[in-house]
Amino acid sequence: MDPLPYAPGPARLINAFTVDVEDYFHVAALAPAVSRDSWSSRECRVERNTERLLRLLDERGVSGTFFVLGWVAERYPALVRRIGAAGHEVACHGYSHQLIYEQTPAVFHEETARAKGLLEDALGQPVLGYRAASFSVIRSTLWALDTLIDLGFAYDSSIFPIRHDRYGIPDASAQPGPVTAPSGRTLVEFPMVPASVLGMKVPVCGGGYFRIFPYWLTRAGLKQINGRGHAFPFYLHPWEIDPDQPRISVGALSRFRHYTNLSRCEDRLRRVLAEFAFAPMRAVLGARGLLREAPLATAT
Ligand SMILES: [Zn+2]
Repeated sequence: MDPLPYAPGPARLINAFTVDVEDYFHVAALAPAVSRDSWSSRECRVERNTERLLRLLDERGVSGTFFVLGWVAERYPALVRRIGAAGHEVACHGYSHQLIYEQTPAVFHEETARAKGLLEDALGQPVLGYRAASFSVIRSTLWALDTLIDLGFAYDSSIFPIRHDRYGIPDASAQPGPVTAPSGRTLVEFPMVPASVLGMKVPVCGGGYFRIFPYWLTRAGLKQINGRGHAFPFYLHPWEIDPDQPRISVGALSRFRHYTNLSRCEDRLRRVLAEFAFAPMRAVLGARGLLREAPLATAT
C-alpha cells in the first residue's frame, strides 16, 4: 500500500503543505484600513503570486492543499482549475475572509456554502477541506464545526492550540484527529501543531511566524515536531512572497506582522521545501486513517 505517492523517501515524515489563497487586501490585520467596498477597485496580485507559488512547488516536485477564498474563486475560476490540474488539492477558505466570531451562524452558513459551490463549480470535484480566516474557529465559534459538517466538509484546519489576541484554543489537541462539534457529531481537525520550548508552545509552522522568527528557529521547531513522530501543517499566503505589494497604512503591530521579511520569504520557503517532505493535507490525513476518502491521485 502506498497512500502517499509524494513521499520522497521512507525516512522522512510527510507533512501537509498548505496555502491560503487570498490577496494582500483581504488580510484581517489590515481590515481596519481597508473597507470591503474597496476590494474590487484595488490592484489584484493574487493570481500572479499564486502562479509563482505553483511554479516553485512544481520545481520542487511538491504538492499541497490550496485553501482558496471564494472571492478569489469567483474572479479567477481558471486559477482554481490550474491549481487542481497541477496535482494540488483545492480546499475552501470561506468567501469574504470575515472572522467567524464576527459573523452570525446564518451568515457563516450562507458564505461558506457560496464559497464551496464556487470552488466545486470551477473544479468539477467535491471540496473536502476548510480553513477559517485567521484561524477563527475558537471556543466561542465551535458551532461553525456543525455548519462545516452540514455542508459536507470532511475536515477542518482552523484550530490554533495557542494563546493569541485574534485566535487560538490553548487547550485544544495539537494533533490531527476527530473533534466533536456541539451537536455531538465529529469532524476531522488538523490543528496548527506548535513546537515546544521550555514547556511553552511556540508556533513555527508558517505565515507571520515563519517570516518573523529566524529560519534556524523555524527549522529547529519543525524538526522537533517531526522528531516526535508528528506531522505539521505548514501554511503560507501568496502575498507573503510579494515584497512589492502596495503598502497600506496600519498600526505598528499589524505593520510588523504583515510586512516583516516579505523579501526573505521565498528563499526561506525554498529551504523548507528542500528540508522537509510534504503532501496535500487530504493525503496526509488519509495516510493516517483519518479520512475515509481516497487520497488524491498522484500528479505524475
Ligand atoms: Zn486568510
